[in-house]
Amino acid sequence: MSEQAKEAQPVDPFKPYSEQYQSYHAMPAKGRDRDDILKELSAMAEAENAGWQSGQVSGTFYHAGEEHRAFLNRVFSLFSHANTIQFDMCPSMFKMESEIISMTAKMLNGDSIKEHNAEDQVCGTVTSGGTGSILMAMKVYRDWGRKEKGIQAPEIIMPHTAHPAFDKSGSYFGIKMVHVPVAEPDFRVDPAAVEAQINENTVAIVGSAGNYPYGLIDPLPALSQIAVKHEIGFHVDGCLGGFIFPWIEKLGYDIPPFDFRLPGVTSMSADTHKYGFALKGTSVVLYRNNNLRRYQYFNIPDWPGGMYASPTAAGSRSGGLTAATWAAMVYLGEDGYMRAVRDIMKVADEIKAGIAAIPELLLIGEPTFVISFRSEEVDVYHINDFMKSRGWRFNVLQLPPALHFCITMPQTFVPGVADRFLADLKSGVEYARSKSGTVAETTALYGLAGTLEGNQQVTELIYGVFDYLYSV
Ligand SMILES: *Cc1c(COP(=O)(O)O)cnc(C)c1O
Repeated sequence: MSEQAKEAQPVDPFKPYSEQYQSYHAMPAKGRDRDDILKELSAMAEAENAGWQSGQVSGTFYHAGEEHRAFLNRVFSLFSHANTIQFDMCPSMFKMESEIISMTAKMLNGDSIKEHNAEDQVCGTVTSGGTGSILMAMKVYRDWGRKEKGIQAPEIIMPHTAHPAFDKSGSYFGIKMVHVPVAEPDFRVDPAAVEAQINENTVAIVGSAGNYPYGLIDPLPALSQIAVKHEIGFHVDGCLGGFIFPWIEKLGYDIPPFDFRLPGVTSMSADTHKYGFALKGTSVVLYRNNNLRRYQYFNIPDWPGGMYASPTAAGSRSGGLTAATWAAMVYLGEDGYMRAVRDIMKVADEIKAGIAAIPELLLIGEPTFVISFRSEEVDVYHINDFMKSRGWRFNVLQLPPALHFCITMPQTFVPGVADRFLADLKSGVEYARSKSGTVAETTALYGLAGTLEGNQQVTELIYGVFDYLYSV
C-alpha cells in the first residue's frame, strides 16, 4: 500500500495495531527476544491506559492506584504458577480462599443469620468472576429444586434489569428465566409482580444490589419476605455493589438492608475484582448454609485419571489471583475501603447534584455511585455523541434510552473531574438541542433492539463483531 493510501485508511477501532505490529497467524519459527516482546506490550498497555487514566471512563477499571497495582502484581508473581485446585500441594490456597470467603461473609452481615436459624452458617466459594458466581448459584437452585422438591422444569424469576449472567445461566443449565419489568418512576422491580409469577416450578427469585443499568437496589426486604413465604431461594446480586454498599452505609447514607440481614436471602454474589480492588478474575459466591453450597460441588469418583473433584465450574485456576485477592482485602482493611469509598462518594455526590440541577435531565431513581439519567426533552444519545468527542465514555442504556456513569477510583485521582464532567454535560445538552430531529450516531447501534426482528439483527451484528475480532 502506498503511503498516501495508508493515510487515507481510517484506523480500524477493533484492530488498531494491525499496521503497527506483526500479526502472528502461526508461532514464529524462532522465538523472539524477551526485551523486544516487553517493549511491544508495554507500548500497547500504555496506549490503552491513557484512555481511563484521565478519569473520563465510566466503571470498567476498578483500579486503586499504581502503588496498589504494583503490590498486587508482586503478590501475584509469588503464586502465578500455582494451581488453586491443588489443595494437597498448595495448602496456602485454601487458607487464603477460606479467609476471603469469611471476610466477605462478615462484611455482608453473615453473622446475623443466626438470629433466624441457629444452625445456618454463611459459607461460599471463590469463583473466576461475577458471571462465575451467578452461574454457580443458579445451578445450585436448579439442583436443589430437583433433589429436594422434585422440580423437573425449574424457573427463576428476575427483574429485567438483572445482569445478563442470569440469562446465560438459564441458557447453560436449562432453567426458564422469567423476566419482570421494572416500574417507573423508581425503576426498581415491583415485588407484587414478582410474586405473581411464582408457580410450582419456581426454585428461586433474584434481586440486585445494585443493578448494572441504574445502580439501584431492588426492594429486597419485600422480595425476602416473598422468598420466605414461598420457601424458595433468593439470590442477591451484589457483584457490583457487594464491596461498596457496606461502606456507603457506614458513611451514613440511607441504604436499605441488602444482605444476609434479610431472612429470605439464601445466596449472594460479590465481586472482589470490582470494588474489592483485587485483580480481574475473582469473585465470591455465598450461601446461607452448607446444604446449598454442596449442590455446587462436583466429583467423579471412578474416573481412570484418579480422583477428580472441583468446587466451582473452573478446573485449574491461578494461585496468583487467589493470593492477590486475599492480599488486597488484608492490605486495605476496613479503613482502606472506607477511605476509597469516601473519595468515590464525594465525586459521585457532586456529579449527582450537578445532573439534578440540569433541567433537561432526569435522574433515574435515587442513585449512589452509579448515576443514570434520561431525558424527555433531548435525545440522550446525542449527548453521548458529544461527550464521546470530549473523551468521556458513558455506558449506554436502552429501553428507555439513558446513560450511566459509574464512579470508580480513577475519577478520584485527577482533581476537578466532576467539574469538567458537568461543564461538558451542559454543553452536551445544548448540542443535543441543536441536533433535535436528527438521528444520533449512538442510535445506529442502540436504536435497533426491542422488537423480535430488531433483536435478531442486533445479535447477528454482535456475533459478526466477535467473528471479526477473532480473526488475526
Ligand atoms: C459486573 C456485574 C456482574 C458480573 O460480571 P462479571 O463481568 O462476570 O464479573 C454481575 N452483576 C452485576 C450487577 C454487575 O455489575
